[in-house]
Amino acid sequence: MSNLEGSVALVTGSGQGIGCAVVQALVLQKAIVCINDRDQERAQGTVDWVNEVGGECLSVPADVSDCDAVQEMFQKVVDAYGKIDILVNNAGVTRDNLLMRMSEEEWDLVMAVNLKSVFNCCKAAVRHMMRKRYGRIVNMSSVSGIAGQVGQVNYSASKAGIIGFTKALAREVASRNITVNAVAPSFVQTPMTDGLADRVGAEAMKQLNAAIPMGRWATPEEVAHAVLFFCTPEVGYITGQVLSVDGGMVMG
Ligand code: NAP
Repeated sequence: MSNLEGSVALVTGSGQGIGCAVVQALVLQKAIVCINDRDQERAQGTVDWVNEVGGECLSVPADVSDCDAVQEMFQKVVDAYGKIDILVNNAGVTRDNLLMRMSEEEWDLVMAVNLKSVFNCCKAAVRHMMRKRYGRIVNMSSVSGIAGQVGQVNYSASKAGIIGFTKALAREVASRNITVNAVAPSFVQTPMTDGLADRVGAEAMKQLNAAIPMGRWATPEEVAHAVLFFCTPEVGYITGQVLSVDGGMVMG
């Protein structure tokens, strides 16, 4: 894997879970990483890890569904480092419910945090990437956005929206040497999925696990490696693609 020395990356929602693993993977390749989460407290664990290994990072807390907050966040990054090479849109939430019970608030929140955030961050980052004629953007989708999932019309729609967004933006910015790709994990052991078994019940859990040919969930590090692949300078002729990291759950 290539060395990312001198590259500046921003990873949203990286105070824990997959985002934290993505930061770690990027820092181990010597990238400077801007760590975003909703607040400083949530981001601190990841910041501490980077400091412990002697990496360089900047904490940029912001609610990524808030357009003005995102603009300010990218301004801080550009003021500090003069550029942004890599953007990983990872922040996401779930508010699961069957359609008939889903509230407007549950729909709106998931669409705002999972999908509008991608619009906000890409719009802010692409301006700077275009100027430098270089960029790597990776958006976190999900197998739910490809195959759908019971109790997740909001989440599945947001993650399917990310796939359409990824392909459209990939076409818009390809000539500027900016790639835009998506990663679609199935089940990953993180705080987001802690307690899932209690929420969906043992029988549903058994069925979900039975649908994974590899018979286990992904680790955050396995997802981070797929993200890292798209972030490398050498991977410059792959764009608009969706890479499933799902133990074989969704094929074809
Ligand atoms: P996680 O453990 O819940 O971590 C997500 C992080 O994003 C949290 O630190 C969260 O902060 C932060 N966040 C939430 N809303 C935000 C906002 N408005 N602005 C900035 N940060 C915000 O989730 P994860 O499992 O690592 O998931 C990361 C991504 O992978 C998500 O997009 C998720 O949909 C996707 N994914 C996960 C799985 C899985 O099985 N875990 C599978 C497929 C796809 P708070 O905790 O304070 O809200």
